[in-house]
Amino acid sequence: MKEKNIKQGLWAATAPSKPKLISIQRDQRTDVAIIGGGYTGLSAALHLAKMGKESVVLEAEDIGYGGAGRNVGLVNAGLWLMPEDLIELAGPEYGNRLIKVLGDSPDLVFELIEEHGIECEVLRNGTLHCADSKKGYKILQQREEQWLKRGALVRLFGRDEAASKTGSNSFYGALLDKRAGTIQPLAYAYGLANAALKAGAQLYNHSPVIGFEKTREGWKLNTPTGTLTANSVIIAVPAYPNYAFKSNKKSMVRMNFFQFATQPLSKDILKTVLPERQGAWDTNLILSSYRLDAAGRLIVGSVGTVEGFAYNLHENWVKRTISKTFPQIGEPQLEYGWYGTFAMTSNHIPRFHVLDKNMAMVTSYNGRGIGPGTVFGKLLAEYITGGSPEDIPLPVSKTESIWSRNLWGLFYEAGARLYHFVQRRI
Ligand SMILES: Cc1cc2nc3c(=O)[nH]c(=O)nc-3n(C[C@H](O)[C@H](O)[C@H](O)COP(=O)(O)OP(=O)(O)OC[C@H]3O[C@@H](n4cnc5c(N)ncnc54)[C@H](O)[C@@H]3O)c2cc1C
Repeated sequence: MKEKNIKQGLWAATAPSKPKLISIQRDQRTDVAIIGGGYTGLSAALHLAKMGKESVVLEAEDIGYGGAGRNVGLVNAGLWLMPEDLIELAGPEYGNRLIKVLGDSPDLVFELIEEHGIECEVLRNGTLHCADSKKGYKILQQREEQWLKRGALVRLFGRDEAASKTGSNSFYGALLDKRAGTIQPLAYAYGLANAALKAGAQLYNHSPVIGFEKTREGWKLNTPTGTLTANSVIIAVPAYPNYAFKSNKKSMVRMNFFQFATQPLSKDILKTVLPERQGAWDTNLILSSYRLDAAGRLIVGSVGTVEGFAYNLHENWVKRTISKTFPQIGEPQLEYGWYGTFAMTSNHIPRFHVLDKNMAMVTSYNGRGIGPGTVFGKLLAEYITGGSPEDIPLPVSKTESIWSRNLWGLFYEAGARLYHFVQRRI
């Protein structure tokens, strides 16, 4: 085991060096203040700078401290929901707009990576959604049918082709989505930050917003080391709301997801494990993810934290899972283990809140935030500088406080521990 960093693990160890940022030091003014230095905030800052607008990002910790620096790195198209379910839940107007905007969201991510020369282990060769049961295969058939109707580049493989695409006999089939790909997620966040800085945005680390008030001069945001007064504010703190936004935790289910990475696999083994290097995940309720990094480490993830005793429990489950799913690897040597938290909503659709005429946020990407965060950052930048709420493909929602959602999160956490304790022991 390399140095233990259960927050960002492998991604912190292999990302290019961090953008060098200080904390806000004095009382400053700007056009748009952005709270949170993840994909949403950084994309907003970059797009504002491209529009010639002044902006300042205040990040409580370091750039990429939240989900942006901890996730699996699957640049997926669309939400978890199948297109027809989304239309049923969101209605045809918002449903169809969301399907289009989020279905195309990988394009924006890959374009920005290319335009700004972001070094983030980028690969656009699709992702594989793998059926771990007959029921899962039926769900993939429905997904394929619904996406094909909309002209998406998806293709369902049966058992044999799934085995050759994944290098595992564990799956009943797999849906290849060619719109998607993989990145090193923290490196992408650093790249967006550097691009935003170069385009003229200002970014501060260790500058938590601990309170805010409306003054005659605009919104005044307070941090321990200085204040920022702005005409408009974008709040981009989704599953890591802290300090002034701590109470937001009550309005969402916060879901934990861990990952463990092996040592780099040998060249021969790499020919047989995800040989085309697609990122993959399965159809199980307690889902598992599988991907390789550029150095050839296999990264396996699933639901749960790795705080305290849960570390060993999930680490052992990962070892058993690798031995059963990819027996060609033999006894796996794990180098890194870490976890993060993402925000869920009851219907799996993100929320758009307009807290005041000049203060807005989009939150809760339900575990799919690379494409959506990048796109909603751009759309929020356009909205906050004179656009209309109608330009965002989400209805404006009230903030909610739903206790049952926290129970739901706890249910998943306890369920995942039990499942990982008993699964694959025989
Ligand atoms: C383990 C895991 C796996 C995932 N896998 C995938 C995946 O494979 N593909 C995918 O598309 N998505 C995935 N996601 C989801 C994705 O990472 C998130 O949706 C995405 O990071 C959201 O980006 P964001 O900028 O909106 O928020 P975040 O990245 O969470 O950033 C929010 C930032 O706000 C800061 N902040 C909080 N409070 C304050 C304050 N008061 N003042 C200043 N700053 C503050 C935080 O420190 C944080 O840096 C995963 C998430 C996790 C945790």
